[in-house]
Amino acid sequence: MPGYDPLNADADPFRPPAISTIVHCLHCGEEYDSYRIEWRVETDSSGGAHGFWCCPIENCDGRGFGFDIFPVDPDYRDENGEKMWVADDEEDDDCGDEELDSKTSGNAGSDSGENDDGEPLPG
Ligand SMILES: [Zn+2]
Repeated sequence: MPGYDPLNADADPFRPPAISTIVHCLHCGEEYDSYRIEWRVETDSSGGAHGFWCCPIENCDGRGFGFDIFPVDPDYRDENGEKMWVADDEEDDDCGDEELDSKTSGNAGSDSGENDDGEPLPG
């Protein structure tokens, strides 16, 4: 990729936000302010130097804001107003749906449903 500099901390897609937020590391489970995330330059498998945003906790190999390190606030938005936590299934994760299920499946009444008899929809 021309123009991509693996040593440019500011160009790294996993850099921490300009405005610090409380983050949680998936690897060590620690919580801390995101400004503590460290830029470290390491040598990759091909022998080239490559910088990574790393978890500041000793002996933790977590790295990358939004990769191993996430904001604690589920409503966190980055500088562009983008949500970090993208909810694909916004329906509800409450696991409180069992009641509904038993109501509908228990009694398949003859007349209660609207589209029970398989009539083709107009149009
Ligand atoms: Zn960590």
